[in-house]
Amino acid sequence: MTVVVLLGAPGSGKGTQAPIVARHLGVPILASGDLLRAAVSAGTQLGRDADRFMSRGQLVPDETIVRVFLDRLERADARGGAVLDGFPRTRVQAEALDRDLTAAGRRVERSIYIDVPTEDLISRMANRRICTANGHVYNLASNPPLRSGVCDIDGSEIIQRPDDQEATVRARMTEQIPPLLEVVDHYRRAGNLRTVDGRDPIDVVSGGVIAALEGLPSDSSSGVGRVG
Ligand code: AMP
Repeated sequence: MTVVVLLGAPGSGKGTQAPIVARHLGVPILASGDLLRAAVSAGTQLGRDADRFMSRGQLVPDETIVRVFLDRLERADARGGAVLDGFPRTRVQAEALDRDLTAAGRRVERSIYIDVPTEDLISRMANRRICTANGHVYNLASNPPLRSGVCDIDGSEIIQRPDDQEATVRARMTEQIPPLLEVVDHYRRAGNLRTVDGRDPIDVVSGGVIAALEGLPSDSSSGVGRVG
């Protein structure tokens, strides 16, 4: 049972590194943004409520995301562990996660903070694209798809998410970085935090991320997917 939390501001490369961590450990990725976007697409009450915040670059209220995310974490495929991508994003969420895991005799074994200065993040986001089928992440400057507009992995169309446009991105940074730094501090105090410089090329960052997993059980033979 290995729970790893990946921390980083929007555009830090977290979504690119998550599959590498998941493959290394042989556990699924649980991405809070994907869970919420699935609810928005499905048109559920949760999706309608969440969309009001997401479209403005604001965080969805803690109460809502904690309930949805912890339910997801309790599903069978995450019993052996999971990589948490995008959750927790506030100190309240981090504390709720700790309580939930402690009650189940589990804990966050490692948190990895991919650290990138804010202005670098804003310019990167302008180039970020995702695939429509599974949310595979590309960057037109540093990690383009082999064929323009088409996902290398599943062949679906690649698009810019509406919440990746610049005005929304700036709002997101202002809103999301202060609570993120509180979460980083939470795990630093817990003693499980490793920080990786996210300005390096992707493979160097990946090397740092894998080094940060040292000491955790790994299972490179397992198949792994991005699951909502
Ligand atoms: P992401 O794909 O992780 O960048 O998430 C997209 C949007 O979903 C964010 O800008 C937030 O509005 C919302 N969101 C995702 N995860 C969380 C979370 N843990 N807490 C609050 N809001 C979240």
